[in-house]
Amino acid sequence: MPEPTLAVSSAAPLSAALIVPARAQAAPQAPGPRERRTAFEANKLERRLCRLVGQAINDFGMISHGDRVMVCLSGGKDSYGLLDVLMKLRARAPIQFEIIAVNLDQRHPGFPADVLPRYLEGLGIPWRIEVQDTYSVVKRLVPEGRTMCSLCSRLRRGVLYRVASELGATRIALGHHRDDIIETFFLNLFYGGKLKAMPAKLQSDDGRHVVIRPLAYVEEADLEAWAGVRGFPIIPCDLCGSQETLQRKQVKAMLQQWERQHPGRVQTIFRSLSNVSRSHLLDGALFDFMNLAPDGVARAEGDRAFDPPEDHALPSSVPDTD
Ligand code: SF4
Repeated sequence: MPEPTLAVSSAAPLSAALIVPARAQAAPQAPGPRERRTAFEANKLERRLCRLVGQAINDFGMISHGDRVMVCLSGGKDSYGLLDVLMKLRARAPIQFEIIAVNLDQRHPGFPADVLPRYLEGLGIPWRIEVQDTYSVVKRLVPEGRTMCSLCSRLRRGVLYRVASELGATRIALGHHRDDIIETFFLNLFYGGKLKAMPAKLQSDDGRHVVIRPLAYVEEADLEAWAGVRGFPIIPCDLCGSQETLQRKQVKAMLQQWERQHPGRVQTIFRSLSNVSRSHLLDGALFDFMNLAPDGVARAEGDRAFDPPEDHALPSSVPDTD
């Protein structure tokens, strides 16, 4: 630390100068250990986010040279994170693609309409706020006490598809992450009787758009942490007055409990979604059981029908407490 200096004015008596310390010259302070640690962690997080988003984009062919990507921005941590990371990747990508941020203002009571324009203004990318009072429509049509989400999201989808067409967007990017995908998988399993998660890339139901989820590999906790690092101006997600459904809450709590008891289990479940044995499920539309016949070729990795099911050894970092 430099010593505080004393200002000595030629006009002032020396004694006065000695007892009036001048403001110390503001020498740049070296960051302390805590700041260095925080910066290190933020840097690591940024690299992880970019790596996982880049990997998902590659694995699913989400974005190609010349694409115009419409990023749907709700004002929540996930969509801010999506836009932020996509902009970082675009800056260093070997291909060129455009990004347009779009927010749909559904006229929810208390929606702070000035927050997103202020944020987007500073980013230097094209953006659009689309105002459509779907809230009133939903309130009018859905009886009190019934869940509004189904109609609300159908209306929102329609507006976003229209805006994507008007903008000439070739991709619509949504901010769903890994945990949304796993929760949806269990919701479909428990309540819908379906083996179905949330696609990382899909053709829209109107057949005219490709929807992508570049955060498919990213954990929600990382997006939460990144929102803190970047100080995104988060807009509350409960302005519509609708609550998260009880089922989703229960599934979330179940996954959190599993993860506490068996660290790594959620990621193992997630990995299984990209490691599917169609012949070991019971869906005749996925595997042609009817025409199955021996071909006389022995396969080391083939099925041993009479053996008991395999015990899967867990990685050593995962405590086997079952
Ligand atoms: S939580 Fe609110 S904004 Fe979201 S889909 Fe449901 S009703 Fe619509």
